[in-house]
Amino acid sequence: WSMDASKVLKKHAFLRIDILTVRLYRSLMADESLGIKVERKNGERFRRALVDLKAFDPGRKICSDGSQIYLPVRELSEKEAEKLRLVADYDVVNFGFVPEEKILTPEDILGFRPSFEIVGDIAMIEDLEEEEAERVASALMSSSNSIKTVIAPISDVEGEYRTRRYRHVAGEERTTTTHKEHGLRYRIDLEGAYFTPRLGTERLRIASLVGPTDVVLDMFAGVGPFSILMAKRCRWVVAMDKNPVAVQYLRENARLNKVENIDILEGDANEIALRYQNAADHVIMNLPHSASLFLPAAIGAAKPGGIVHYYCISPEDDLYRDELLIREAAEKMSAGIEVLCESIVRSYAPHRLNVVIDFRVKKL
Ligand code: SAM
Repeated sequence: WSMDASKVLKKHAFLRIDILTVRLYRSLMADESLGIKVERKNGERFRRALVDLKAFDPGRKICSDGSQIYLPVRELSEKEAEKLRLVADYDVVNFGFVPEEKILTPEDILGFRPSFEIVGDIAMIEDLEEEEAERVASALMSSSNSIKTVIAPISDVEGEYRTRRYRHVAGEERTTTTHKEHGLRYRIDLEGAYFTPRLGTERLRIASLVGPTDVVLDMFAGVGPFSILMAKRCRWVVAMDKNPVAVQYLRENARLNKVENIDILEGDANEIALRYQNAADHVIMNLPHSASLFLPAAIGAAKPGGIVHYYCISPEDDLYRDELLIREAAEKMSAGIEVLCESIVRSYAPHRLNVVIDFRVKKL
């Protein structure tokens, strides 16, 4: 119809070919349905009144011809029509409203809700059969312009560096991206270093506990999502990681987010933390599978009264069993602990959960 529309409009030179005119023409060509015509100045007030009455038809687009607004509605009762008169003068009309274009969700396309996670512009799907994976990838990419790459894991999160291998399924062939979280940007290589967006809420919880004069020691910093968020709120951060790729990204992310109140160190947290005895107001221990092996170093680095945020993976029937390990480690160092918070962070595997134990360190 757009070719016909421009021919008609060109014939009549007195008509201004602008977006409104074309829209109006387009709506006239569409099927007519019930609408309300009000003066433009009353349009928004009237739309709200229609929504309150549940009379507004969200399946059709509002249209305007300059001075008048056309609002799509369902059939109105007499009572409703009266109520609307109190808002402003209006006319009931039949109008060719254009249907709202529905953006299809992956579920609409596939007939089921696929499981996936987004990091930056990369979608990570489950490791499915090749054809099924391609179908899911294509549904994801057609329902979102921001997904440029789809990958699927071909290994678990493994090894000391907690990394994962992926296969390319669709889009650009890469595992690097830029992810936004809490207003900060992170360069990430999903194969080169650990990162999950599923800890975003937990990172915000820790940030809310950190004060402007605090020193934070992040023992397993990865690409920096805890460290950089904390650095924006506290006096100084000491961030370390054993994985050289993670440290390279951590440095890049500190620069990217203009964070300068940070020491970034590559190496073993058990050794590095020894250099920071009684230095930290908060110690973050985000290495859930083996955090208990680093408890003496973490307790040593905490100031008297400092808080350690300890993450571990636990069976659902004994969620906070590591509390015993924490008490034993503190006792061996002639220190005490006070548990401040114990909670579930996220599910990890069937019957296994990622939990956090926050404890205050009491030193004699
Ligand atoms: N905190 C980061 C995050 O939330 O994205 C990364 C957490 S990841 C689960 C654990 C990190 O600890 C990995 O980056 C790994 O390389 C690092 N790591 C493992 N063993 C380490 C050690 N002995 N010393 C320092 N870092 C270590």
